[in-house]
Amino acid sequence: MFDSLSDKLSGIFDGLKRRGALKESDVTAAMREVRIALLEADVALPVVKDFIKKVSEKAVGSTVLKSVTPGQQVIKIVNDELIAMLGSEASTINTLGVPPTAILMVGLQGSGKTTTTAKIAKRLTEKDKLKVMMASLDVRRPAAQEQLKILGEQIGVKTLPIINGQMPVDIARRAMDAARLQGFDVVLLDTAGRLHIDQSLMAEVVAVRDATHPVETLLVADSLTGQDAVNVAKEFDAQVGITGVALTRMDGDGRGGAALSMRAVTGKPIKLAGYGEKMDALEDFHPERVAGRILGMGDVVSLVEKAAATIEQADAEKMAKKMAKGEFDLDDLRSQLQQMSKLGGMKGVLNMLPGIGKMKSAINQSGMDDKVFKRQEAIISSMTTMERKKPQVINASRKKRIAAGAGVGVPEVNKLLKMHMQMAKMMKKMSRMGKGGRMPGLPG
Ligand code: GDP
Repeated sequence: MFDSLSDKLSGIFDGLKRRGALKESDVTAAMREVRIALLEADVALPVVKDFIKKVSEKAVGSTVLKSVTPGQQVIKIVNDELIAMLGSEASTINTLGVPPTAILMVGLQGSGKTTTTAKIAKRLTEKDKLKVMMASLDVRRPAAQEQLKILGEQIGVKTLPIINGQMPVDIARRAMDAARLQGFDVVLLDTAGRLHIDQSLMAEVVAVRDATHPVETLLVADSLTGQDAVNVAKEFDAQVGITGVALTRMDGDGRGGAALSMRAVTGKPIKLAGYGEKMDALEDFHPERVAGRILGMGDVVSLVEKAAATIEQADAEKMAKKMAKGEFDLDDLRSQLQQMSKLGGMKGVLNMLPGIGKMKSAINQSGMDDKVFKRQEAIISSMTTMERKKPQVINASRKKRIAAGAGVGVPEVNKLLKMHMQMAKMMKKMSRMGKGGRMPGLPG
């Protein structure tokens, strides 16, 4: 899967990986090559542009981690953006609702619709232990209903008995009625395909949709057709409304253009991937795993993740040591503020703490929002190193300069200095308590 794209990308990144230091021009050159590789893989142009822009921005703005090379860090960024492009989290097929729930299978002829219908039926029966019925609504292709029946016999899934001469909507209604009477959980409706999208096909699918109210309308598309698959999905979504995509023939897809563009262009998730003709060659689509396979750099990605985790821990330990000594200067306050915004700001931190709902509204009212933190950070940043180490030197004229530099008024500078003083005092007290060996008021 995606072999040719994968080969090209690993060629590009192998060069980058070995570099000790990375200049901006190295990143730019690599991104130019990535852009070409993605376009050759038939990824839609706007998606490629957006991808390159995001990766470049993040690469320039990222903090340098110890123990990994900048090249490795860029690979991690590319990996994360690939996952985002593929749709972040895996989403699987939905069967929830009042049974029998209908799943509508739509798509062009030859896309693998009937095969995928049977694959899904098998999986829902065996893995999810659901009672599943399949019905072919394809009255145009003479052997279509027969084909589904044979597949049903192979996998042990019931198909709706064929009545010749019935119209698709009537077959769909009959299937739903039969399923209701016989206690089925799910009905898979395999609609007729055409070679191209045409209005009579869409009208037929819409009529079936309105008669059965499906919980899922899955578009089956052939990944080998690249951007055509994406355009078909867009068209079906506009006219019928789809809930997701099943991408077939991924086993033969060396390029990956359809898979990589589908989510970004249509806004609909790829829910399932077909990897062969056999009835169990169907998988949930996991963006993380797919990105991993495309990039083939799993080792580098986990290395960078570990390094990022360690650096944060090292920061925290350094801070803890200083605090134990009762030291707390404005640099420490600033890194606390930065840590805070890394964790998603005040709200992010609060959301991590359980049972804090009431405090949240109090804090909202007090105006302690993230903008305040950002301003405080700006104030500290417009001080000199010496001022940050020894805040007592900050006199009136220095205050004026700092305030102007941060774009705030002098009272705000005063407020920050006061807050820092109180915090520093508290740190000192706490460190003294620590030296005493036990907390006052507690039995030793
Ligand atoms: P339909 O006209 O859309 O219903 O297409 P079919 O289900 O009849 O499939 C057409 C052909 O594609 C059949 O020979 C299938 O076995 C084959 N096929 C379907 N899905 C896949 C897949 O994921 N990989 C491969 N290699 N072949 C597939």
